[in-house]
Order: sequence, then C-alpha cells, then structure tokens
Amino acid sequence: MFNIVIFGKPGSGKGTQAKFLKEKYSLYHISTGDLFRKNIRNQTKLGIEAKSFLDNGDLVPDFVTIKMLENEVLLNNQVKGYIFDGFPRTLHQAESLDTFLSSINLKINATIALDVNENELITRLIDRGKTTNRSDDQDIEKIKNRFNEYNTKTSILVNFYNKQGIYFSVDGKGSVNDITLRLFGLVDSLI
Ligand code: AMP
Repeated sequence: MFNIVIFGKPGSGKGTQAKFLKEKYSLYHISTGDLFRKNIRNQTKLGIEAKSFLDNGDLVPDFVTIKMLENEVLLNNQVKGYIFDGFPRTLHQAESLDTFLSSINLKINATIALDVNENELITRLIDRGKTTNRSDDQDIEKIKNRFNEYNTKTSILVNFYNKQGIYFSVDGKGSVNDITLRLFGLVDSLI
C-alpha cells in the first residue's frame, strides 16, 4: 500500500491533483471537504453539525472530522492505498491519523504540500466561487479566515512530517499539467 497526504492552502489545487494521483496510482481518494459538502447537501446529522463551520471558513472540530475520516477508511478497505486530501489539518488530526492507521497496520508514506502564494490563491478562489457556488469561495473575509486557519493550525504539520522524513513540497504554480508532472515525478521517485 502507498498512502499519500496532499495538503496546501485553500485553492492550491489539492482536489484537482488528488484526482490525477488517484488515477495514476490506483488510490482511493478521500477529501474531507467533499465529504462534508455531501453531508450538507443530504442534510445528514453530520452535515447539519458541520455547515456553519464550512460557511464561515472555520475548521470543523477535530472529533467530528476524525470520526468521519476513520469511517470512510474502514468502509473502503479493499484498496491499493489512500490519498488523503484536506486531512489532517491539525496536529491532533495528524497524531490521530498515525494511531488509527497503525491500528490497521498501515502508515502514511508521503505527505506532499502544494506551494502557492496567497495573492494567487485569492484570485483562484474568487474565480472558482463564480462557477461552484461555494459560499466559502465568494467572500474575501472567509477566504482570509481559511488562510488564517491554515497558517495557525495546519502549517505546523510541516515540522511533524519533516521529523518523520516524509514531508515533500511541490511548486503549485503553473499549468495544471505541469504541476501533475511534478507530482508524478516525485511519487515515482518514492515508490
Ligand atoms: P476543502 O474543500 O478542503 O477546502 O474544505 C472545505 C472546508 O471543510 C474547510 O474550510 C473546513 O470548514 C472543512 N474541512 C475540510 N477538511 C477539514 C479538516 N481536516 N478538519 C476540519 N475541517 C475541515
């Protein structure tokens, strides 16, 4: 099994690139953002619990997110590996993921950050908001709050995964195809 975490600030292209990685390496793609949005659309208990956090650009509390992620893994266990997209986003989530994966004899093999500066991301997100109707992509204050959540809670994971020797960063600027090729080059060198 080869398990990858892809992370990066909102708009860095995690979801887009995760889909290419999933195809090429036959991975099962788990996006916690997509799972929350699906639950919100279906008005499940989880969706109702999570909605206000997504609307405001705040992180959903760890205990809700971790449980949702673990369930998704356990329900889809006949796979060649996972690509975790948008999870973990806090130190507690990262530690829980390690504990959980080792309890089922798995581990993270690589964590890859997509590096893009915030000015470019704001332009990308506002553009995306026009076509996807995502409320958290349409308001500059919400976008800034999401950056703030990333900078204060998620960026410390660089250190966490660096210490394990499994942190890699890829330049997330340029065409989608160029970025995909950079990612494939990196993953090919690791497997
Ligand atoms: P994304 O689609 O990854 O940009 O996530 C959209 C929103 O879903 C985030 O702004 C959070 O409100 C929520 N979310 C997604 N993943 C997580 C996570 N790992 N922890 C907490 N909240 C999350």
